[in-house]
Amino acid sequence: MPAVTSSTAASPSSSHATSSSAFDPKEVTVIFVLGGPGAGKGTQCARLVEKHGFVHLSAGDLLRAEQDREGSEFGEMIKTYIKEGQIVPMEVTIKLLENAMRAAMSSQAGEAKEASATTAIPARRFLIDGFPRQMDQAIKFDESVCPSKLVLFLVCPEETLLQRLLERGKTSGRADDNRESITKRFRTFVETSMPVVDYYRQQGKVVDIDSSKTIEEVTADIEKGIAPIMA
Ligand code: UDP
Ligand code: MG
Repeated sequence: MPAVTSSTAASPSSSHATSSSAFDPKEVTVIFVLGGPGAGKGTQCARLVEKHGFVHLSAGDLLRAEQDREGSEFGEMIKTYIKEGQIVPMEVTIKLLENAMRAAMSSQAGEAKEASATTAIPARRFLIDGFPRQMDQAIKFDESVCPSKLVLFLVCPEETLLQRLLERGKTSGRADDNRESITKRFRTFVETSMPVVDYYRQQGKVVDIDSSKTIEEVTADIEKGIAPIMA
């Protein structure tokens, strides 16, 4: 596995970790947020963070940060994959996510210590946005990092997605918000990422959300969808 270093550098496995996965599902709650490019994953995650204090980790954002990190051995590779709408080899993405999760966990442990809290630390809730989008990533993450409790699947017609992405492209500065890259991303979504949604659907974890509605309506539907695991 290639070594990924970042400001949130890898540390040895947590003492709380089970032998098979990095995080104990009792200590962390993971929700995957999936959906085509432009489905509104980032927008909705930001709203959930505000309301519920989730830790939001966008795989795409982590990859872009690693791409721009000085000295990264993966920068050029990530750049090419993103422009082509392809999935970066999973070792890189999973390590970035794991590092970010660990950083969030240790900052929480630090806060608890400072407050000299004696009560048990509540499970840290993570929204993992735009991941997993290929079967190998899904299997590897579930087995080596932590299985998810729920998958929010934001469903939206491609025509709407295209319009949103072209609009976003006017200001996003993203190298993949152009018609050519968008077409490739749609293809990857249908061919490579949909099987992941089907896989979790078989496990009964998927909540479908119609994300062609207004931002407020979508948030309301998501709230209903996550209610069972927020209790
Ligand atoms: N990407 C990847 N692996 C992932 C998530 C993202 O390789 O697990 C890459 C992929 O090239 C994708 C790009 O990052 O097209 C942008 O992903 P992002 O989630 O930012 O796009 P969105 O779906 O939010 O429009
Ligand atoms: Mg996004």
